[in-house]
Amino acid sequence: MSIQQNSRLRIVLASSEAVPFSKTGGLADVAGALTGALSHAGHEVTLIIPDYTPLRQGKAGVPEVHDTGLQFTIDMNGRPMTGSVHWALYPQTDARVLLVKQPVYFDRGQPYGDVAGAYGDNSERFCFFSRAVPEICRRMVLRPDILHCNDWQTGLIPALLNTHYAKLGGFERTASVMTIHNMAYQGAFGKSDMPLTGMHPGFYNPSHMEAWGHLNLLKTGLAFADQLTTVSPTYASEICTQEGGCGLDGLLRWRKSALTGILNGIDTHVWNPATDPVLQAGFSVDNWQDGKARCKAHLQQRLGLADNPAAPLFAMVSRLVDQKGLDLIAAIAGSLLARQVQLVFLGTGDRYYEHLLQETAQRYPGQVSVTIGFDESLAHQIEAGADLFLMPSRFEPCGLNQMYSQRYGTVPIVRQVGGLADSVIHYDGTADSLKTATGFVFANYSAAGLSAAVDQALTAWQDSTVWNRLVQNGMRCDWSWDRSAGKYVEVYRRALGQVLQRRAENRL
Ligand code: ADP
Repeated sequence: MSIQQNSRLRIVLASSEAVPFSKTGGLADVAGALTGALSHAGHEVTLIIPDYTPLRQGKAGVPEVHDTGLQFTIDMNGRPMTGSVHWALYPQTDARVLLVKQPVYFDRGQPYGDVAGAYGDNSERFCFFSRAVPEICRRMVLRPDILHCNDWQTGLIPALLNTHYAKLGGFERTASVMTIHNMAYQGAFGKSDMPLTGMHPGFYNPSHMEAWGHLNLLKTGLAFADQLTTVSPTYASEICTQEGGCGLDGLLRWRKSALTGILNGIDTHVWNPATDPVLQAGFSVDNWQDGKARCKAHLQQRLGLADNPAAPLFAMVSRLVDQKGLDLIAAIAGSLLARQVQLVFLGTGDRYYEHLLQETAQRYPGQVSVTIGFDESLAHQIEAGADLFLMPSRFEPCGLNQMYSQRYGTVPIVRQVGGLADSVIHYDGTADSLKTATGFVFANYSAAGLSAAVDQALTAWQDSTVWNRLVQNGMRCDWSWDRSAGKYVEVYRRALGQVLQRRAENRL
């Protein structure tokens, strides 16, 4: 069944976080930026997110939020829970944001957990959110062409769409797309939570909602959605293997023909070194040295590092979790610091890594700076002031910081995995590779692998012509969302084609 290639699509994006309202990681950047890019491309976009009211109140850049007056009640295993819907315009677009307000579930300081760990009622909170999304679509007569779900928090939506809501009006030509941002987070809960889903208990089976003895909400989305995507082509291959599939590789191999890897873009307005308001000086590709040097000096001063323009400044901005390769950095830190480099870390996460990094900073005053916390403007200043960026990840679905780094003239050192492999081109020391290289890429997850890449980078750093070329190659890359958004639209049209085909064959 053919879909008009240029028709305007009605797209509903569902996400558990989105900038500027809430953010714990890359998902928030993607949900926000994709909303903007699809809207600019002329589609009718509605973004639905939970309303973590205390998180958004007073936050810079958050648009004014209004009450729609709509209320709805969902029976959460015998407990009627009422939610309401607020709305806002997504900044600088025509897209609409619907915020699902439910104070018991969402009036919290963080989306998923606090210092004590993940909230104990996360399955209930996000089953409620997932059940709210199609209900809101129905009550507001949104009649979407596409319901685009993201990660386990919205994994129940494709299942509800294909069962309960398939019988109700308003979804006759709605296709679902499920995007995996990180296979490591699957929303696995006890079987006893099944009644919270509103699905018939018979769906608790290995073909639909159960995986390895648990209710699995990511798997639910992967089993029911019309099309699946993940956030880079290499990660799309990796998750179909036993090593990268986190227990769901069998299902993903089975659904491989419906799976597409689309590299995330970045918000090139928010991340623009020429206009970034938090930088000491702006700079651009043809004239980066002076501005970047001023940003470096300012960063060194702000973080209490020695004022030394010649010291290569390595940086990392990251969640401090096993995935990010911090054990490799810890293993090489001593030998790296003996080479008179400077190291800057910004992040939060596991207490173990927080303490490890803080101890290192205490041992190397003026040479190592560690900021434990989430600080967006410092993240921008680090990207601008650093010379090299470390991302030796164990796995990395896409990664955004390596793209921010290239745009800010900071040369990334990354492991050849997931989206890092798709977005950094290795410099092997030859004139030929210098034509396109943007950084340093190592294959094996080992301290030796990282150390060799650091050696190569420090050799290149000595040669200002080589370094200039690496910086400029990176700064010239196009990471804008327009490119990626076009690929999502192709997937949407494929998904919609499948639904219309099924309808034509009377299979719905
Ligand atoms: P992940 O989604 O695994 O956390 P990504 O690289 O895809 O990793 O995205 C992380 C995003 O969060 C980036 O925008 C990064 O700059 C930001 N970020 C991570 N930790 C911090 C922090 N402590 N302070 C500010 N920004 C952070």
